Amino acid sequence: MSRTVHVIGGGLAGLSAALRLAQSGATVVLHEAGSQAGGRCRSYHDAGLDMTIDNGNHVILSGNRSALSYLELIGATDRMRGPAGADFNFVDLADGERWQLRLGDGVLPWWIFSTARRVPHTRARDYLVLARLMWRPGKGTVGEAIPCSGALYERLIEPILLATLNNEPPLASARLAATLMRETLAAGGRTCRPLIAHDGLSSAFVDPALAYLKAHGVTVRFGHELHTIEFDDGRAARLDFGKDAVQLGPADAVILAVPPNVAARLLPGLTTPDAFRAIANVHFRVEWPMTLPAMTGVVHGLTQWIFAYPGRLSVTISAADTLMQMPREELARRVWSEVAKIAGLPEALPPWQVVRERRATIATDPRQEALRPQAATVWRNVILAGDWTATGLPPTIESAIRSGERAARLAAA
Ligand SMILES: Cc1cc2nc3c(=O)[nH]c(=O)nc-3n(C[C@H](O)[C@H](O)[C@H](O)COP(=O)(O)OP(=O)(O)OC[C@H]3O[C@@H](n4cnc5c(N)ncnc54)[C@H](O)[C@@H]3O)c2cc1C
Repeated sequence: MSRTVHVIGGGLAGLSAALRLAQSGATVVLHEAGSQAGGRCRSYHDAGLDMTIDNGNHVILSGNRSALSYLELIGATDRMRGPAGADFNFVDLADGERWQLRLGDGVLPWWIFSTARRVPHTRARDYLVLARLMWRPGKGTVGEAIPCSGALYERLIEPILLATLNNEPPLASARLAATLMRETLAAGGRTCRPLIAHDGLSSAFVDPALAYLKAHGVTVRFGHELHTIEFDDGRAARLDFGKDAVQLGPADAVILAVPPNVAARLLPGLTTPDAFRAIANVHFRVEWPMTLPAMTGVVHGLTQWIFAYPGRLSVTISAADTLMQMPREELARRVWSEVAKIAGLPEALPPWQVVRERRATIATDPRQEALRPQAATVWRNVILAGDWTATGLPPTIESAIRSGERAARLAAA
């Protein structure tokens, strides 16, 4: 019997599902509401700066096995760049101190015992809290699992958890933080190299994926928003796209790789996360000063991470909900005053752009964690994918891609 899998949503979860199904020779149609694939992980031409930028700076780690396997499948591993080792540069705006955290390659955390490699003003025994968070997180928040103060917290745990969980760490799920740390820090420096798409997110994650899908006969339909699903006898029977509809055959399946609020509207009775956190990115058109590494963590500032690209410096601020109402120019000026100080650049504001994503990710607190659904649904031929589904990972590229792999496996079964 001929069989088609309809993937709804062309973000990384949908692309990942479609790629894995195409790889196994399945017949796949990908339906994307927008005119572009990539969802929350894409590049676009910004008219204000007159340059192509990403919707937000994205970092993956060398231990993100699903993301790396996705890049390998589409031949885009070389589009990611990072330091040779797990090295992270930091600056503390409170006292101007700069340091480099060097995790080394080994599984054993020797760096903790080296004053030259660990966080300044911390002692080896301070790091025991990391072990406690990783192996005994409990069911509550990070704030309930470990003390959220002191040099190690402010200079390492807070910047890392803010960036990866997109939530104020004391409120974030300790279990989620523990999984993240076990898959990265505890697995050794080899899994912690930060990797950035040096020519933009679309050139790494999206364009080569679309090329792979095309070469494998997958139909990709842009501007094709799914409006409703009709159900019959415990399964999806018809997909209504407004201007046209698809009648599903008895063996056809649907992978819903859309945001949680859209999935909840399409699937009656589905419970999904319903709280979100914002991320702000501020971009400056300015030549990359050679004194600045490609990625710098900033402590005790509004700025959290500075990314340096040819012709542009870009700042990321996670859990940025309180900045959503700040006038754009005020935000740009405040961030630039910090960046200029760190990079040794003139105080005059260069051409800038502020990009704020109000619903950048779901909130990663224990209540929202409990609302993340499994991939299988009560409808026999409907499967969920998305960074917000129950992957056990924070809502990241790795979670999105892994959810797509899992959905493809279920659809193939
Ligand atoms: C500013 C920012 C910075 C980030 N930084 C990082 C980072 O550094 N590292 C990291 O790992 N992750 C980061 N993330 C998270 C990462 O971008 C996401 O986890 C990932 O892109 C989610 O992919 P997804 O496919 O699950 O969802 P989405 O990207 O939201 O994809 C859903 C897709 O479904 C489409 N759609 C919606 N409704 C319909 C419909 N009815 N019919 C058809 N299509 C529909 C949408 O148009 C969209 O393309 C960041 C996110 C943001 C916003």
